[in-house]
Amino acid sequence: MHSNCIFCQICAEKTETEFLFENETLVVFRDINPHAPVHLLVVPRKHIRSINDLVDDDRGIISELISVAQSMAVSQGIHKSGYKLLFNVEKGGGQVIFHLHLHLIGGWA
Ligand code: 5GP
Ligand code: ZN
Repeated sequence: MHSNCIFCQICAEKTETEFLFENETLVVFRDINPHAPVHLLVVPRKHIRSINDLVDDDRGIISELISVAQSMAVSQGIHKSGYKLLFNVEKGGGQVIFHLHLHLIGGWA
């Protein structure tokens, strides 16, 4: 855990953030500044800075992030209407929090 990383703190339940799902690999919570009616963040417990820092051993984590995003889209009722899965990568790619996370965005009318 990186003590100065907000997502590490959230994963360690050091904040009031409500989890919509959690397992030993990752947690899912609502984005604090949603860009759509449904805007969830799927966040590995392991501190990985960005997509650029993935190593071979992280393949299982990435696979699980996407798999859980798929099931969260179903449980949020947006799988049929459609959604976006997004990784922002580094500053120029819009990344603000340097702890890897997958955005699940959807629910537009
Ligand atoms: P990024 O631009 O790094 O891909 O996205 C970071 C996201 O994290 C932003 O959409 C931002 O609103 C969200 N965020 C930042 N700090 C917090 C927080 O403390 N709690 C929650 N739930 N979301 C956060
Ligand atoms: Zn972190």
